[in-house]
Formats: sequence, C-alpha cells, structure tokens
Amino acid sequence: MQKRYYPFSNYLKETFNKKVYKITLDGGFNCPNRDGTISSGGCIFCDETGSYSRCNNAENSIQTQIEKSMEKLSKQFKAEAFMAYFQSYSNTYAPVEQLKKIYDSVFLNDKIVSISIGTRPDCIDDDKLDLISKYKHPWIEYGLQSANDKTLKLINRGHDFGCFKNAVIETKKRNIKVCAHIILGFPNETKEDMIKTAHELAQLEIDGIKIHMLTILADSPLAKIYEKQPFYLLNMEQYAQIVCDILEILPPKTTIQRIAGTGYSETTLHPKWVNRRFEILNLIDKIMIQRNSFQGQNYTNQKIS
Ligand code: SF4
Repeated sequence: MQKRYYPFSNYLKETFNKKVYKITLDGGFNCPNRDGTISSGGCIFCDETGSYSRCNNAENSIQTQIEKSMEKLSKQFKAEAFMAYFQSYSNTYAPVEQLKKIYDSVFLNDKIVSISIGTRPDCIDDDKLDLISKYKHPWIEYGLQSANDKTLKLINRGHDFGCFKNAVIETKKRNIKVCAHIILGFPNETKEDMIKTAHELAQLEIDGIKIHMLTILADSPLAKIYEKQPFYLLNMEQYAQIVCDILEILPPKTTIQRIAGTGYSETTLHPKWVNRRFEILNLIDKIMIQRNSFQGQNYTNQKIS
C-alpha cells in the first residue's frame, strides 16, 4: 500500500536505486550520561543496554559484524547494498583519531554505501563533524526525546533543547543528514507539548525522525519510579493519533525511519501494546486515510510560539 508519509525505505530506493538495508553495529562505545561524566544514572527510560544493537555486539570486530549481517540480509531480503549504523550508546564518544579508525573500517567493504551514527547532541564537536562529513552519504541520529527543557530535566538527559538545536545546525552546515529521535507520552507532557516538539523539528528541517512511545523497560530507573508511583501511559489509539498529527506537521521530505517499535518484548514492562508493531503501523495508515491527510499538510517553516 502506498504510504501517506515518506518511509525511509523509499528514500533509500530513490537515492541508491537498489535494495539498501541498514546493518546495526556495536562500535564498543559508552555513554557520558551513564559513565559518570554527565551523570551516572543515564536517561531514566534507558536500561543498561543503551539501545544496543541486537544483531551484533562489540565482541566481534566491525568487519565480522558487517559480514555476518550482510550474509543474513542478502539471503533474507536480497539486499544489494548496506548502510552501516552505529546504534549502541553514544557513537561519537571517543577522541577523533579513534573514531576515524572505527568509521574508516566500515568502508573496507565496498557494499557499504552510507554510514549512520547514533549519538547525543552534546557529544559532537567541529573536528568530529568535519570527519563524519567526509564519508559517503553520512547521517547522524541525535537523541532528543522532547523539545521541552522541563521534560529533558525530568528524564535526566543532561542537555537542553538549545544544545540539540546547535548540533543540528552545525551538522546540516556540513551536509550531513540529521535524524532525530523523540518519545511520546512522558507523564508531564500534554499533547500540545508533543506537537510543539514536532514544530521545532519541522523548523529545523530534519531529514529523518524516529518516534517512540515511552516504554518502561525492566532494570531502567523509570521502572523503579513507575513501581513506586504508576502514572498514565497513552493507549495505542492515542499514540497513533499523535503520530499522525506529527506526520502532518513535518516537512514532506523528512524521512520516517520509525513510528512503531521493533517488536522485542523480553524487557518491556509497560505498555505491552508497543510490541504489536504491525497493528500500530496499520492503525496509523487507517487514521491518515480517515483524515484524508498526508505528511507535510500542516507544515510551516514559520516559528510557532
Ligand atoms: S544518551 Fe542514550 S545510551 Fe546514554 S543514557 Fe541516554 S538513552 Fe541511554
């Protein structure tokens, strides 16, 4: 079915003219919000795995991780080329010389056509951005979660929205594409707060977005908070309606990289519906058809107060 939004898979097909799949990699990095540099507790929703790559881990060399994933994806999906995605923790959290060695190594394999690096907006500087800008089709994925500074404080992000904004501006200046990660359903946030985050991202003309529902993972600080004092969590319908509102606000060319979870259920405590990925995707399609709406229909690059 033709989507009413711009899926990342369409972007990959249009850009590379072949089947390109993402390989998630673990470069063995840590996170300054977990190791005591910024704080030792980390973001309250994060468990000890730090959004790790479930397919690969740093016990294997980058080359081995790449080869193993390529073999699997080529067999399963007839993938012809690949994007190397450093997913676990903060993948720019090392001196630039060390980063160069790690990033260079992915391009030893000529089937890698692009690189994507997940990190925090306070974990980047001019030298690191200059380095990343020299690779083929570079992307940086910044965790933001919300544009509301009160929320960022509450969830112990360790940076504010201004930090994210500066990082995006500096990154885009170098023609590196930016994907932002946000979370819907923080207990202090109203629908208007979430919509405000979407407007801020639209104004920054981000190139990609991943939208998640707030999920309480076992062994996360949030699990302890919720156990002591449970709070309201959005249901699937409410989440899907807000996702549709956000899609309508984002620029038509922003690639939609994730709007439903990956279906891993082992560590999800609440809400359980987040793992019903296809149901969520179908509901979002259904709502957009009912509304007869499209991504970008409410996009404006004017500042919303
Ligand atoms: S920045 Fe990422 S890895 Fe670090 S604590 Fe927050 S969510 Fe976890």
